[in-house]
Amino acid sequence: RDPNVKKPEWLRQKAPQGVRYEEVKKSLSNLKLNTVCEEAQCPNIGECWNGGEDGISTATIMLLGDTCTRGCRFCAVKTSRNPAPPDPMEPKNTAKAVASWGVDYVVLTSVDRDDLPDGGSGHFAQTVKAMKVLTPEILIECLTSDFRGDLNAVTTLVHSGLDVFAHNVETVKRLQRIVRDPRAGYDQSLSVLKHGKLCKEGMITKTSIMLGLGESDEELKEVMDDLRAIDVDILTLGQYLQPTPLHLTVKEFVTPEKFAFWKEYGESIGFRYVASGPLVRSSYRAGEFFVKAIVR
Ligand code: SF4
Ligand code: SF4
Repeated sequence: RDPNVKKPEWLRQKAPQGVRYEEVKKSLSNLKLNTVCEEAQCPNIGECWNGGEDGISTATIMLLGDTCTRGCRFCAVKTSRNPAPPDPMEPKNTAKAVASWGVDYVVLTSVDRDDLPDGGSGHFAQTVKAMKVLTPEILIECLTSDFRGDLNAVTTLVHSGLDVFAHNVETVKRLQRIVRDPRAGYDQSLSVLKHGKLCKEGMITKTSIMLGLGESDEELKEVMDDLRAIDVDILTLGQYLQPTPLHLTVKEFVTPEKFAFWKEYGESIGFRYVASGPLVRSSYRAGEFFVKAIVR
């Protein structure tokens, strides 16, 4: 894409505002807690932290450091073969901070940690357990790596007490090798999502796809069918945006109308909830949408 081409109007960011947003922001400033929402200057922060009509606020917290062992071509996170070891106090400290914060739904996510024997699943599980002890009513989604396809790591995490198991397939089958790190893959991601669903009765699973990378409508339908075949419950679709000139270029700015079409299509083939829009990210208003998905 020519960098001089202006982004379409529908991708302009709004300044965050709202009463709940202000409260959440104020209480956060006293805590040692880094949210992805603030660090990534996410354009959705007002909507997520306010919590919409139902008042269910959502925030995303990153565990296991800021350095990834992989290098996907759409992602600006820094990379190293040997990131610093995990902070053993992080699970308890995160739980303490969240308990005094006042957010309803927390998405725990992380970089990929191929350097750790369990890919970091034990660390995630400890964090979930510690959070549920201190704040039993909190809803927790874990958005994780594929753990290199290690299904025992998935089992450990799914049995930790989380409410939603999320892993992103990111793009259609044909573009996997171009978009994601070579250690990731379509079949591996589907196998992780399938196991997450099957290893605990009633588990809610979720995945996310970026649009605008050159995928065709037929290819998108194919991945949506494959996800339904393994009973994935919640799907989010958002526009890919190029983080730096070194990353993959945007092939297309998908219109809001087309995103609306995909929401309708996805729900017609059985997803319990599809969040679809140019600025939708995997964790966008996740608490509100989780509640809508489970009452369906
Ligand atoms: Fe935070 Fe995710 Fe919402 Fe952005 S979309 S504000 S990162 S919860
Ligand atoms: Fe970024 Fe995740 Fe890929 Fe690491 S594995 S480079 S954090 S998208």
